[in-house]
Amino acid sequence: MPRKTLKTSSSFKQGFGWAPVYVATTLIGLLVAGAILYFVEQRNRTQHEAEMRSKLQYELNEAALDLSLIFQRNADTIRAVSALISIEPDISFERFSEFSQKIFVEHNDFVQISAAPDLVVDRVYPTNQSDGLLGLDYRAPGNDELMAHVTRARKAQSVLFAGPVDLENGDKGVVAHNVVYLDNADSDPVFWGLVNLVIDYQEALHVLGLDEAPYRLAIRGKDARGSHGAIFWGDRSAFAADPVFATVNLPVGSWVMAAAPVGGWQNYSASITRFYAVVGATTLVVILLLSAATRLIQMRIRAVAQMSSAINSIEDGFAYYNSDDRLVACNDKYRDYHGGASKLFTTGTRFEDILRSGVSRGHYAEAIGQEEEWLQTRLAQHRASEGAIDQKLDDGRWVRMSESRTPDGGTVGFLVDITELMNAKEEAEHANLAKSEFLDVMSHELRTPLTVVLGGTPFLVKPELLPATQKVTARLASMGDDGAPLAKEVDTMLASYKSLAGKVERSARSLLTLINEVLDYSKIEAGRMKLSREMSYCDEIIDDVIEEYRAKAAEKGLTIEGDAPELAIYADEPRVRQVLENLVSNAIKFTEVGSVKVQAQTFGDFARFRVIDTGIGIPEDRVDGIFEKFSQANTSDRRRAGGTGLGLAISKKFVEMHGGTVGVTSRVGEGSEFSFTIPKHVVQESRAIPEQRAKPAA
Ligand code: ADP
Repeated sequence: MPRKTLKTSSSFKQGFGWAPVYVATTLIGLLVAGAILYFVEQRNRTQHEAEMRSKLQYELNEAALDLSLIFQRNADTIRAVSALISIEPDISFERFSEFSQKIFVEHNDFVQISAAPDLVVDRVYPTNQSDGLLGLDYRAPGNDELMAHVTRARKAQSVLFAGPVDLENGDKGVVAHNVVYLDNADSDPVFWGLVNLVIDYQEALHVLGLDEAPYRLAIRGKDARGSHGAIFWGDRSAFAADPVFATVNLPVGSWVMAAAPVGGWQNYSASITRFYAVVGATTLVVILLLSAATRLIQMRIRAVAQMSSAINSIEDGFAYYNSDDRLVACNDKYRDYHGGASKLFTTGTRFEDILRSGVSRGHYAEAIGQEEEWLQTRLAQHRASEGAIDQKLDDGRWVRMSESRTPDGGTVGFLVDITELMNAKEEAEHANLAKSEFLDVMSHELRTPLTVVLGGTPFLVKPELLPATQKVTARLASMGDDGAPLAKEVDTMLASYKSLAGKVERSARSLLTLINEVLDYSKIEAGRMKLSREMSYCDEIIDDVIEEYRAKAAEKGLTIEGDAPELAIYADEPRVRQVLENLVSNAIKFTEVGSVKVQAQTFGDFARFRVIDTGIGIPEDRVDGIFEKFSQANTSDRRRAGGTGLGLAISKKFVEMHGGTVGVTSRVGEGSEFSFTIPKHVVQESRAIPEQRAKPAA
């Protein structure tokens, strides 16, 4: 069927439909988490770098300021020397040395001081370093660079720190040049010459601790040319490492300091990296958990949807109540069977509440007028949850309600439409009734002519008793020997009539028995057989039946005996007698040698009758069905012993109508014991019990 194939494939697809959603959720989750982490980290990095920069910038500014102050002081010193010379242009070498010595005592970083009147060096302190310097003429060829410094210093009219230059002792130093003018009252100051001071600038940097700074540091601006001057001190790579800058202001020009962290600006602390790793891992775990939860929820939603579609596909009504008796699920059919009350079946509602609401709104027709009673009965059935109840709905349909318990204490309910079954049953019952009525009528019709036949047969069986026969016999006797031959013929004729009449009578009787049995059975089936009960005595019934069958038993050479106490029963006596007759008749019929015993005993509230024979017995496999109508232990029984197979079925019905039971035990070849119980007569106080019952007239 193509439709079925389609369904299967769609449910297959449905089974894997979660995969793209699951993958997409995970990917989106990962992307979002990754983006957030990236932006957070970027922001933190920028912030971290900015903090580092401002901290370093602050430190560098401090260092630059300190350095400026040192060199401003140095400039002041050389200005002081210049001032002395401008006052004493012809200062003696001794006085110059004396003055310089005083200055040098206070300044560790001063290396050498010299004076060059008219740009030719003639005084140097200390003298041990004066070799090669004394007599240096700035204007001499080859000293252009030196001359350029002088020009700059003259132009700026301030101290120029030139260099660094290599010193004779192998160190490095900067040279402070200051131009000296002599005051002239009449005209502009007159150029005197130059004062130079060599300073160990590395000592100054050492004093400030810059040579051991915990970051990369370098200074550029050779000859005080600021950012245009060459790098002359420190770790040159600092300038290439996106550094922070600070300017060291000098009297003329400047130096530029650059500083950068040793490991670069992106030098993230390990703890921050670890922190982000933990955050990242946690995010990943959360995402995975969320994805798994999403998956589980999807699976649950799908399972619920599949379950409800499966439940709705059931042809019958289905409902499941949990251990609290609350409705978990039910299908549309189940609701539909509850007619007007269908809307009350909502998930989570207790069964009793649903039922009560339905009853109070009059949705259950059969409950009207006996609401509480109906409710309690229905609730008790629901609690017991066993067996099935057939119920007719308002719209004429029949449903069979069956409920059963689940292992966890819940209840599963099924409502099955049995309208067709019930209609068929009704039809069958009608047909059976019609059949019983037909048999009833037919039996009556058959019995009437049969009664006439049986009314005549006793005379035919004994024709010698008929007056006409007696007359003929008397005439022939009176004829003496003449009549003897004829009398003989007549006797032969009567004998053959007798024989024929006997056969007719036996057949008619068995036909009557059959008709009576059929009549009884159809009456019972049609429910028209009524009992008329009164007090009777077991021993009387047994005695009567034995008397009735004694001759028949004797005919077969069987002994028959009864044994019963004076036991009162409350019964329809003719019917009990009929049952016992049937059993005794069967016992004689199916016994060839031995005896038939009939007994009665008290059996609780009942009297128990037993008919025991030593006959052929009943095969084990036939014992169970022996009380069914038309049942015979052997098919040969009918041929051998006659009978219809109705006797025991009727007996059973009669006994059951009395509230008793029938039973049989039997062994093939050994005999059978048939028994039945009839309720004992209950003594009622208001009724006087005769002390001694009137024995029937013998
Ligand atoms: P039937 O008219 O055939 O006797 P019953 O209903 O009385 O009908 O008995 C049904 C069958 O039960 C008999 O045909 C016989 O096979 C078996 N049956 C009844 N009573 C005895 C018995 N005492 N011993 C052996 N078989 C018996």
